[in-house]
Amino acid sequence: IEAHFSTISKESGEENGIIAVLHDVTEKERIEQERREFVANVSHELRTPLTSMKSYLEALSDGALHDPDIAPQFLNVTSDETDRMIRLVNDLLQLSRMDSREAQLEMGEIQAPQLVDHVVDRFEMSTKNQDIQFKRRIPEDDITVAGDRDKLTQLLDNIISNAVKYSPEGGTINVSLKPEKERVVISVKDEGVGIPKENIPHVFDRFYRVDKARSRNLGGTGLGLAIAREIAAAHGGNIWVSSDWGKGTTFSFSLPYAQQEAVVNQ
Ligand code: ADP
Repeated sequence: IEAHFSTISKESGEENGIIAVLHDVTEKERIEQERREFVANVSHELRTPLTSMKSYLEALSDGALHDPDIAPQFLNVTSDETDRMIRLVNDLLQLSRMDSREAQLEMGEIQAPQLVDHVVDRFEMSTKNQDIQFKRRIPEDDITVAGDRDKLTQLLDNIISNAVKYSPEGGTINVSLKPEKERVVISVKDEGVGIPKENIPHVFDRFYRVDKARSRNLGGTGLGLAIAREIAAAHGGNIWVSSDWGKGTTFSFSLPYAQQEAVVNQ
């Protein structure tokens, strides 16, 4: 609590009272603290790939450049690190736009089953060389939601790419769409490592990772779920997770129907 005092004086100059103004600064302090942590995290996340690139570039200029066995490998590493930084900066830009509400959603009427099918088709293609199965429970009915197609595609992308990253070989990923009374619920269930109970409340926080090294190795930025949560919230929906450590994880999000008639049609 922050307190400001002023005295009340009579015309004669004699003091006859005190006004105390009390401010609750805990909220201000919390926001400031979060901001500091965020900047520290961003700096750290950028420094890691930069430091690694610098040491590989130094090794190349110290002679590795002329070693045909090593040079291409070192160049690959620096290229991968650059990719990671680009991903990170893109994710940060996206978050900052959502924060400032600068990014107006381009709302349209979207056929939810079509959108989900489309994203799953794409993942089926891109994981063709991995031993991962997709199963769908997506109704063929018209189910219209109001939303921004690109943003919703990204939300689903972020969740499915995590499911792929954390799935074991031979794992199945179930994608389902359930029309409920007042909302559509889309779920992605994997058979991966799962998330320990104590970590679950934090997974949507920016830069939070259960296993930092593992996430980095898999190319993660630690921002995917934070972005997913912002997108769901901007659409008036929710996002949540349930997970059994060692057995698998289900991420779900909900979206409101486009209009009342859509609900009646269900
Ligand atoms: P990252 O880029 O690290 O994947 P995210 O914000 O997408 O960042 O996810 C945050 C963390 O949540 C991950 O580092 C991981 O520990 C955990 N996580 C997300 N999805 C899954 C999943 N399907 N199975 C297990 N853990 C997950």
